[in-house]
Amino acid sequence: MDTKEGILFLCATPIGNLSDISMHVLDTLKEADLIAAEDTRNSIKLLNRFDIHTPMTSYHEYNKYDKAEELIRLMREGKNVALITDAGTPAISDPGEVLVRMCHEEGIRVTSLPGPCACITALTLSGLSTRRFCFEGFLPSGKKERKEILSQLSSEMRTTILYEAPHHLKNTLEQLEEALGDRKMALCRELTKKHEECIHTTLSEAVSYYKENEPRGEYVLVIEGADPARKKEMEQQAFLQMPIEAHMEYYQNQGMDKKESMKKVAADRGLTKREVYQQLL
Ligand code: SAM
Repeated sequence: MDTKEGILFLCATPIGNLSDISMHVLDTLKEADLIAAEDTRNSIKLLNRFDIHTPMTSYHEYNKYDKAEELIRLMREGKNVALITDAGTPAISDPGEVLVRMCHEEGIRVTSLPGPCACITALTLSGLSTRRFCFEGFLPSGKKERKEILSQLSSEMRTTILYEAPHHLKNTLEQLEEALGDRKMALCRELTKKHEECIHTTLSEAVSYYKENEPRGEYVLVIEGADPARKKEMEQQAFLQMPIEAHMEYYQNQGMDKKESMKKVAADRGLTKREVYQQLL
């Protein structure tokens, strides 16, 4: 590796409480040649608070490809760049992911300075299983893609973590309840701030609550995974909605022969093998 090239430092910044910043991040922000920030007007408050005078440039959703090329050029010239986002760990549900990928492609060294991250903070407060979890970030806004993800989540057995903005919360909770059924959940907002709240509730209670109350602040939703019996039930429902030929194909595509597939299809649909055979004629 060419040691004269600069490095990209991913610097985690507080999600509410400024004291959560690490010494390592502060030193790096002071020593970097340039700080790339998602919203420079927002980040200037952080820099002022810690008396950091490093020049800043914007790196956000709408310039993430062009700006990444410019930052990579600077790092090639030997400049060290620190990346910060509005809050939390860069590259988690923000444009940082693109810059990191492009740096790897261009052989630029990237290092990550860990720190606050809203999804992990919420998970640890949730009281739900932390042994196996999956992070979905924001659900996609496109109808078709969103439906597809919600359907996948309905049989997800790991604890699921989602981000949501206040103006979309009601709608998202309703869609989650419809797709996943009623589940335990933790609704976390204002994490690490004065009015931090982590409500241990259920999807249906949360839907009712927000029919009467206006959501405030940014939210993290932590939802209990599907229970195995429910997963089986959901799979069975999906099979029953399939034409029997497609159901057979499903198992044959997994390498089963016709006889084995018929046995599985019969069990899934509550039929005898003979009945399956007759329906396939
Ligand atoms: N990179 C960030 C991280 O490490 O968590 C997340 C960036 S994403 C654009 C912003 C979302 O994170 C918000 O919409 C909200 O869902 C969640 N979030 C950030 N700060 C939060 C806080 N203090 N309390 C609750 N949720 C927060």
